Amino acid sequence: MNTKLLLKIADEFGTPTYVYDSEKIKSQYLRLKNAFKRVKDLQINYAVKASSNISILRFLNNLGSGIDAVSIQEVKLALSCGFKAEKIIYTPNGVSIKEIEDVSSLGVKINIDNLSILEEFGNKNSGIDVCVRINPHILAGGNSKISVGHIDSKFGISIHQTPHLLRIIKNTNIKVNGIHMHTGSDILDTSVFLQASEILFDLASKLDFLEFIDFGSGFKVPYYQGDSETNIEELGDKLSKRFNEFCSAYGRNLKLIFEPGKYIISEAGVFLCRVNSIKQTTSTVFAQVDSGFNHLIRPMMYGANHSIENISNQKDVERYYSVVGYICETDTFATNIKLKNVSTDDILCFKNAGAYCFSMSSNYNSRYKPAEVMLINNTYKLIRERERFENLLINQIDIFN
Ligand SMILES: *Cc1c(COP(=O)(O)O)cnc(C)c1O
Repeated sequence: MNTKLLLKIADEFGTPTYVYDSEKIKSQYLRLKNAFKRVKDLQINYAVKASSNISILRFLNNLGSGIDAVSIQEVKLALSCGFKAEKIIYTPNGVSIKEIEDVSSLGVKINIDNLSILEEFGNKNSGIDVCVRINPHILAGGNSKISVGHIDSKFGISIHQTPHLLRIIKNTNIKVNGIHMHTGSDILDTSVFLQASEILFDLASKLDFLEFIDFGSGFKVPYYQGDSETNIEELGDKLSKRFNEFCSAYGRNLKLIFEPGKYIISEAGVFLCRVNSIKQTTSTVFAQVDSGFNHLIRPMMYGANHSIENISNQKDVERYYSVVGYICETDTFATNIKLKNVSTDDILCFKNAGAYCFSMSSNYNSRYKPAEVMLINNTYKLIRERERFENLLINQIDIFN
């Protein structure tokens, strides 16, 4: 992204601020689409939980994307941004049957990941098509907190429960028109993905009324220079071929669905912070910024490595810093990294801040959530105002006043 423009944005809207490049969102969407161009019927469903700003949702709707939603609120956000109900799949975990029925009544595709819920839903609503989420027990995922395919995972219907699944379908007469898997985030090895796909194909061949197979997501994007990423083109080549073979054997052209969040939006986003102070201790030089894990929790929660650049001072000597926040708790963004000489008021730019950053932000320490800005055609637009003091009070009830 253009550094001058970012500095201008920081100046105009203040900090901390998230900035999203619409061109990058588009190019990632098109790159994924292109990798699977040999599949006749492909749908890419953006995972709202990665970043749920309504301008981002509308932009993706205009590109032709569908939606992966994990809560009724995400479904309603997508509907309010003009997504057609049939292009939304609702994949909840651990929600009440009431919420599932409420979403179903909105006309949205339902993905069920629990046999007792499937049985109950099927008994009451056998006329409604459903998708089932399968756990193929393939171990994937960048770290244990985001790996959801393993044996103890709470996600999905175990592939070993297939006989029970088939009995419930027969007993309730419910029509299963889709099967789904989402085995975790940060999948690096395409062969792992292909292995899991074979498990889905095997189950698919036992179901008569399929219309789509949803392969979930978990594509890895590079977080720092030299970091690895999922080879989308290789995966596209191999999986498209297998998918087309399967469709011929099955006797019907199915829709292939992916539901990427991180792949679409992660690299499109940066996070701009201002340096409040430089603090030298006996062992470390801290650059303290006007943010913390209240705004960007991934480094502390997942050990994520977001590369950081001092965009105010690009020509100076490099020094080592630990970049920390202003929260009254340890909130280390990066330890002992090289930055161009940092001074108070410099703007630090965190890369890969599009996915699971703003959407996981909070008001901890009674700080305001950041502003959000979108770059469009060499210009920029504010897409969310910084919070104000009123936001901290809005739902509170002052009973002793
Ligand atoms: C979170 C989630 C995704 C998106 O995962 P990414 O790693 O961001 O691509 C897709 N599907 C489901 C069901 C999810 O819960």
